[in-house]
Amino acid sequence: MKSWLLFKSCATERSRSVRAPKPGEFFLKRITVLSLAFLLAACAGLPNIWGSSLPPVPTPTGFPSHTPTITLTPPATKTPTITPTFTATFTPAPTLTPSATPKPAKTDIKRAIIISFDGMRPDAIEQAPMPNLMELMAGSAYAPLTARTIDYPATSPSHASMLTGYCMEDHGVIYNKFFMYMGYAKGTDVFQLAHEAGLRTVMVVSKDKMRQMAEPETTDVFEVAYGEPAIQKAVLPQIEQDFGLMFVHFAGPDNRGHKYDWMSGEYLKVLREGDAVLGEMIKTLKAEGMFDTTFFLVSADHGGHGGNHIGTTIEDYRIPWIAYGPGVVPQILDLQIYTFDTAATVAYALGLPIQPDWDGIPVYKIFGEDQLRIHEKYPCKT
Ligand SMILES: [Zn+2]
Repeated sequence: MKSWLLFKSCATERSRSVRAPKPGEFFLKRITVLSLAFLLAACAGLPNIWGSSLPPVPTPTGFPSHTPTITLTPPATKTPTITPTFTATFTPAPTLTPSATPKPAKTDIKRAIIISFDGMRPDAIEQAPMPNLMELMAGSAYAPLTARTIDYPATSPSHASMLTGYCMEDHGVIYNKFFMYMGYAKGTDVFQLAHEAGLRTVMVVSKDKMRQMAEPETTDVFEVAYGEPAIQKAVLPQIEQDFGLMFVHFAGPDNRGHKYDWMSGEYLKVLREGDAVLGEMIKTLKAEGMFDTTFFLVSADHGGHGGNHIGTTIEDYRIPWIAYGPGVVPQILDLQIYTFDTAATVAYALGLPIQPDWDGIPVYKIFGEDQLRIHEKYPCKT
């Protein structure tokens, strides 16, 4: 580095010496050339013949001894300018468009399942607990306090209202016993409408008196299965075959309530078992790619207290009413809902014609629509 500097200073000195001679003075020129030769020789590392008497080479102001280190720095200043440009272009890159996939609408509903936990009180769901049902509830339209059954809170008359859309005096199932001579529930029920529309209709029940709820010709499959494992065994293959309308009835809570009391450990335990079957149903629907197009309506025929449901307290009448599926707007429903609204709402969800003589009214509100009609008073005589 030092020799390079010396060369540079020598070169500068040389250029100054060349410019200095006056034209015409040949001799002087020679001397100058000679001295230049000496200077160059000194620059080449030859011994300095003048020793210390050599005129001090003025340090060129443009070349301070420390300058080279400064001239090398500029590349370092370029690097920071590059990095920000990269980060700036990458930040908008995470486009989260997949999450913006349109939510299924009511028109996406291809099938409906009505599930009745016989005698299930709304306050038993969390107490049991029923995690699969609670997961559905989290995305559902749910009436925890304002849904109730008919004035005769018994299994057969209440279920007949649930599935036909009529008051008891209109569907005619006035006994809580299987009296076949009484015939089937009268009127146009939701199973008949679904069957006429070409939908495959399935009923899996755990009390044989449920046969009275719908005429055999309107149900493609009717199975009686006793106990939760049997219900599961009957239901899952029906899901795999696909369906338009399915009704699944769990008798367990009613049986245990009568035997061990409502809200007892045994009553809550069988609700958990029923919930596990619901979990398997959901799993099967998902495996078949049908879950996102299935409408659920989970309810009960009545509640109960002590060892019965004879209609002396609100707990006997109050029922859970949970709607879940495409187009359903999650919400807590506080309007008056009766069990015959279930048939009307399921028919509306499936796009089936609402019967003008029905006592039930579709709960339009579950789809975020205006509730065109409401129950101003209990519409039944019984
Ligand atoms: Zn019942």
